[in-house]
Amino acid sequence: MSVRVLAAVVLACLLPLSPLYAQGIPRVRAAVQAQAGWDAIRDGRHQEAADAFASAIAAQPRDPSLYFGAGVAAFLMGQVSTAQQSLEHALSLAPQLTSASLLLGDILYRNNDLVAAADVYQKALKYAPEDKVLAARLERTGRESDVQSGFFQSQGAHFTVLFEGPADEELARKALEVLETAYWRVGTELLTFPDRIIPVVLYTEQQFRDITRSPNWAAAVYDGRIRVPMRGALTDPAELDRVLTHEFTHALVQSLAPRGVPTWLNEGLAVMFEPGGQPWAATQLSSGTYRVPQGQLVGGFDGLTGDQARMAYAQSAETVRAMIEQAGALAVVALVQDIGRGDTFEVAFERRMSTSYNSFTASLDPAR
Ligand SMILES: [Zn+2]
Repeated sequence: MSVRVLAAVVLACLLPLSPLYAQGIPRVRAAVQAQAGWDAIRDGRHQEAADAFASAIAAQPRDPSLYFGAGVAAFLMGQVSTAQQSLEHALSLAPQLTSASLLLGDILYRNNDLVAAADVYQKALKYAPEDKVLAARLERTGRESDVQSGFFQSQGAHFTVLFEGPADEELARKALEVLETAYWRVGTELLTFPDRIIPVVLYTEQQFRDITRSPNWAAAVYDGRIRVPMRGALTDPAELDRVLTHEFTHALVQSLAPRGVPTWLNEGLAVMFEPGGQPWAATQLSSGTYRVPQGQLVGGFDGLTGDQARMAYAQSAETVRAMIEQAGALAVVALVQDIGRGDTFEVAFERRMSTSYNSFTASLDPAR
């Protein structure tokens, strides 16, 4: 064997290991990109994950797992419609992909598309009849579907309001009016608009407790749908405006960052945009010296008593007010967006507020 032939053989053996060569094969390139995508998701770098899966799909457009990855990345960034499309594509290529069915079902459930969600779970169960999670999701969807089956519907430009009977039609109409106003008022201030129609469900008190399992002091909740118990208070137009604007702000925050936003930041924004929210918080803070410890404001407020919760909301609103005063509302929006892309709260805070979170809270008036 001549030296030249030997060199060619050696080269041929080495080439498959060479990254440059590997990049030339679409399947290998897709696998490398997919791995990078999953690594990025694991580390919370959602935008990088989305980019990696997009390159992988360009190289290997018939691989269902890549559409699933792209769907997960989009979902984590709050891009619900994109996530839905990717997951549907993944399932059209591989209907047995249970994890894609679970996420797609969840998205449809949050959109109040209960029939479509149930359909996704049912189809998935054909391929994985033993899957307990799928069965539980189907059961939950069915239960909620039963409650809503007799509900009426009122459609606005950006919201769908579901309510129990003709007696509530007037309230539903008012709710739509208030929500459409909030849509433009809060959306314009934050330069953010949700990319989907938001479902709003008006419940009786009992239905609200059964479905949401929220603490007694909760006036409403947002979990992909705005859920409102119809107390006497909601016949008070000012209260209706306050509660719906508050929940709509949560919908906006979630469209920017579905997870990772500290509770105080989410609630603080929601209170700030309530009509009269800011003066309410100031009055609340001056009414007593008790303060909820900062550490308790990060997680949920569910464990707090009604009095503690009021103070927690007021403290949250005050911190957000100070942030907006110092850096502007758009900096706070950018901070939430950074969290959505996968930054930790601390990193995002420092970038957008030009100071660390600890120095910022230390600089706040302790009497507040
Ligand atoms: Zn809230």
